[in-house]
Amino acid sequence: MNFDSRRVQLVLALRKAGITDSKVMAVMESIPRNIFLAPILVKHAYEDVALPIGFEQTLSQPGVVGIMTQALDVTDRMKVLEVGTGSGYQTVVLSRLVRRVYTIERHRELLEKAEKRFKELKISNITAKYGDGTFGWKAQEPFDRIMVTAASLDIPPILADQLSIGGIMVVPIGQTSDLQSILKVKRTEDGFETEEIREVSFVPLIPAEV
Ligand code: SAH
Repeated sequence: MNFDSRRVQLVLALRKAGITDSKVMAVMESIPRNIFLAPILVKHAYEDVALPIGFEQTLSQPGVVGIMTQALDVTDRMKVLEVGTGSGYQTVVLSRLVRRVYTIERHRELLEKAEKRFKELKISNITAKYGDGTFGWKAQEPFDRIMVTAASLDIPPILADQLSIGGIMVVPIGQTSDLQSILKVKRTEDGFETEEIREVSFVPLIPAEV
């Protein structure tokens, strides 16, 4: 089976998993997930599983990328912050749906590899930097949307503070890897509203010594 038909197969699986947003589906269908993986793992690129990318980190399961992207509820005018660039796959999905993506990664090597992929795909609306994403990106706040792709114990307060009014943050919250939920946090005029999207398992968000 060639990559294109595998990709179509993956999208059908995502649809079954409950992803209904046609823009999210179309974008995921158009992105070659294989280029985000080491050669030895490429054969698994279109399976609905999380895959290792080094440093004990993983490229998120496509079903989870789809659900989180759908929950973020973006438009093409938005400025989005992503915490945890990892392979860059989720970053690229977002870059095709919004105006600009700012992304932060705490492993230099992962960041460099991801940036090479952005160039290879000729994407010009991603700004990436090395650092501890729990501090957000002060110079660029407020953000219309914030996506966190590593699990946090609580809603990261500095990130919540960098959301615009009406802004949404999607973040996996939980104590241990088997007790996490994806939360959708909406900033209102006088506080925050939260909604649980689904249970999930993510690698932890780790404060970096940078
Ligand atoms: N969206 C990525 C998921 C990567 S896993 C993908 O699809 O490939 C989570 C990533 O978050 C890892 O790369 C990890 O290094 C990064 N991370 C963890 N804690 C972080 C922090 N405090 N600041 C920035 N990145 C962090």
